[in-house]
Amino acid sequence: MAAVIDISEARRHVLDHCAALPPVSMPCREAIGTVLAAPVTAAEDVPPFPNSAVDGYAVVAASVATVPVELPVVGEVAAGASTDRVLQPGEAIRIMTGAPLPAGADAVVMVEDTERLDGGSRVRVKASVERGVAVRVVGDDVHQGTLLYEPGTFVTPAVAAVLASVNAAMVQVVRPVRVAVLSTGDELVDDGGPLQPGQIRESNRTMLLGQVRDAGCEAVDLGIVRDDEAALEVVLHDAAARYDAIVTSGGVSMGDYDVVKAVLSRIADMRWMQIAIKPAKPFAFGVLASGDRQVPVFGLPGNPVSSWVSFELLARPALRQMAGHPHPQRPMVEAVADDGLRRRVDGKIHYMRVVAAFGPDGRVHVRSVGAQGSHQLAATSLANAIAEVPDGDGVAPGGVVRTILISVA
Ligand code: AMP
Ligand code: MG
Repeated sequence: MAAVIDISEARRHVLDHCAALPPVSMPCREAIGTVLAAPVTAAEDVPPFPNSAVDGYAVVAASVATVPVELPVVGEVAAGASTDRVLQPGEAIRIMTGAPLPAGADAVVMVEDTERLDGGSRVRVKASVERGVAVRVVGDDVHQGTLLYEPGTFVTPAVAAVLASVNAAMVQVVRPVRVAVLSTGDELVDDGGPLQPGQIRESNRTMLLGQVRDAGCEAVDLGIVRDDEAALEVVLHDAAARYDAIVTSGGVSMGDYDVVKAVLSRIADMRWMQIAIKPAKPFAFGVLASGDRQVPVFGLPGNPVSSWVSFELLARPALRQMAGHPHPQRPMVEAVADDGLRRRVDGKIHYMRVVAAFGPDGRVHVRSVGAQGSHQLAATSLANAIAEVPDGDGVAPGGVVRTILISVA
């Protein structure tokens, strides 16, 4: 039997075998959710020409030093248009936000500080402006030639927009990770019919497919595979040929029908781990060769809560590392366990599912979701954080506990 190892050793082993995928070129608009694989240098200035930050009147600042003052309006320029008219001192040109600043102008008076006269042919300026006010100069946002983004930058919607703004139409990103998910077990059904004796409704696949997507990967549903070694072997080889990683649920413990263990032991280079944690003690990880590729395989336990926790602790960071994230782990904070988190000494770290929220003191406070059994997914399903309770008798009420944050509103 495998020796019991620490979670840190298990995680190191997994991360050591899950390198970032190769780069691909992708339109910046499709790259949201990926990680840049190459630096991006700005090929253009943003903005590309001096323009107005407001709707108002382009002026020579010196002409409006004493207010109120009335000026002739000698032209108009809208966004997307331009004017050849060179503004002279003592004149105004009506200008819209984003329109190019006319030559000669050095400031813009916002429309709120003006009054239209004579049907728009004149304007009364009621507030003076310094030179440069409401003028966006060339490169004020991005200077051509500057390093905009380092490799490893996560492409958020705003990052993608900046890439579009400098015409970085195609970008090099780490290829999105395609992950195959399958469940194993003769007791599992998902056809919606009445349950026969011994059957249960399959649920881990729904959860794991969602967790894979939440991790930013593409999830591929391979369905339920019966506890049949030949069938499972075919499915696994096929998955390794097509996808970047495989997540299985069930069949990795010590039972007689743990076929995942039987098959993967034969066809893949696996490590069958017993991790000193609760839940999710059994965990399998290895690589399945397909041609010259080594495809990571995550063998998660079948108990639903164990499946959820081991995906969070081990599969998720590994998949995110494959996707190129330089910091693939969830953030951890020191949280206050308002009611305490009691446990018994058993040589394991307990990953207790908790509800976390910011308190009026600005700190994160956690409370147990209630039932902590590895089959009690209903309680765990409401968790938005995982408290890492070290071996011992737990955390006293008001005590501090290191907590993995999943989503804290
Ligand atoms: P196993 O790891 O295959 O020994 O399964 C452990 C427990 O988890 C058993 O009670 C299984 O019925 C249950 N289980 C396994 N796979 C699933 C699944 N995909 N959905 C729901 N429960 C499962
Ligand atoms: Mg099973």
